Amino acid sequence: MGGGAAGIAAARRCRELGLRAAIFEARDRVGGRAVTAAFAGHPVDLGAHWLHAGDLNPMVTLGRRRGELLRRTTRRGNLFVDGRPATAAERRSYGTAFGRTDLSFAGAAREPADRPLASALPPLGRWRKATEATMALISGRPLREVSVQDFPSDEFGDNYFIRGGYGAYLARLASGLPAALGCPVHRVGWSGPGVTLDTAGGPVKARAVLVTVPVPVLAAGAIRFDPGLPDDVADALSAFLPGSYEHVVLNWPGSPFAGADRLTKLIGRRFDAALLTGMDRAPFHYLELDHATLSSLRGGAEVARFARDLLRDAFGARALGTLRVLHVTDWRHDPHSLCSWSVVPPGRTAARDVISRPLGARVWFGGEARSRSLWGTAGGAWEEGERAAGEIAAALGAVPKPGETT
Ligand SMILES: Cc1cc2nc3c(=O)[nH]c(=O)nc-3n(C[C@H](O)[C@H](O)[C@H](O)COP(=O)(O)OP(=O)(O)OC[C@H]3O[C@@H](n4cnc5c(N)ncnc54)[C@H](O)[C@@H]3O)c2cc1C
Repeated sequence: MGGGAAGIAAARRCRELGLRAAIFEARDRVGGRAVTAAFAGHPVDLGAHWLHAGDLNPMVTLGRRRGELLRRTTRRGNLFVDGRPATAAERRSYGTAFGRTDLSFAGAAREPADRPLASALPPLGRWRKATEATMALISGRPLREVSVQDFPSDEFGDNYFIRGGYGAYLARLASGLPAALGCPVHRVGWSGPGVTLDTAGGPVKARAVLVTVPVPVLAAGAIRFDPGLPDDVADALSAFLPGSYEHVVLNWPGSPFAGADRLTKLIGRRFDAALLTGMDRAPFHYLELDHATLSSLRGGAEVARFARDLLRDAFGARALGTLRVLHVTDWRHDPHSLCSWSVVPPGRTAARDVISRPLGARVWFGGEARSRSLWGTAGGAWEEGERAAGEIAAALGAVPKPGETT
């Protein structure tokens, strides 16, 4: 259930393993938190946009096998400090600060006791606030709310763009799969044998179900489990925090920085860091907003105003002459996602393991929240979808009987 990366991967793998599988998806499209829109004829991703972690990401490997056009993004970004390009010395010392932070986080993650990521920040001098803000943006929550044992490593930084967009890639991968769109599941009956799903299109019987619905949606009770979920599973689902990360899509032909596919970091007086990415050589940028910033803003118009103010502060009013805010994403309020990804707070790292265990050999949970190595990413969701499909196939053993759906 759920037609995002995890659901699509699982359905494909089930088929490869000789099982019959179908996707039940609440939205009228597949892709979930990866969707590609068109602006002036250019594909623009409104959710996932980078294929992170290079060869560790199964979607990169698969893309290569399929002959998809993948382009590695440069690690050399732009750095602006107080509205001017950083000096060479500033670039060096900021780079050193960032590298030290990454090392410190990796070291702390190997310690037996979990603690907040914020407590593992090394002394960083003038770059402290900017480094912390960037790490918080990547995390989806302020660092005091993130487990140090559950933080993405630097390998996440090996990024690729895929021609046509990430959402479009997922839609291609779903092509030919049986998918009921606009068909939310409201109830999962799992008293056995098998499961019964109450969907908007009527009841469906199957031998097993993989639930890939985002954790905050499950925690909000959008799907009733009958019988109710065991206490440890309900507790694990409620442990995750909804992470926020939103794109402000800009068209800014006169932007003061250049370089396709390049991150631009802004460090200024009124803000600690903001990321602007040139997107896959299209004439657009994203301004990326973090949880703390978003928490103080209501609605898209306010976010758009904030973005303009921030860029005016950074570059002056004249530089904004050609700037247009095209779109502001709102995944954190979207009832089918309620987050950008799920974050594990300190002390709750076991939550990912708990939701990785099946219930009664007929209900599995999947999706990005299950992934420890590629957490919060579409690649991680894909990997977990495939893994869950393998587990389901192993548990069901024989070829399904006619008329059943897995
Ligand atoms: C702005 C933004 C930027 C991001 N950037 C990146 C990036 O660059 N790289 C990256 O790898 N990841 C990125 N991510 C994270 C990535 O998008 C997610 O981790 C990934 O797409 C999650 O896939 P999933 O299959 O687990 O969940 P989803 O994609 O959310 O799929 C779950 C599906 O379940 C459906 N659903 C919900 N309720 C029901 C119901 N009751 N019945 C049936 N279906 C239901 C939903 O509609 C959805 O389609 C980003 C996310 C956001 C929001």
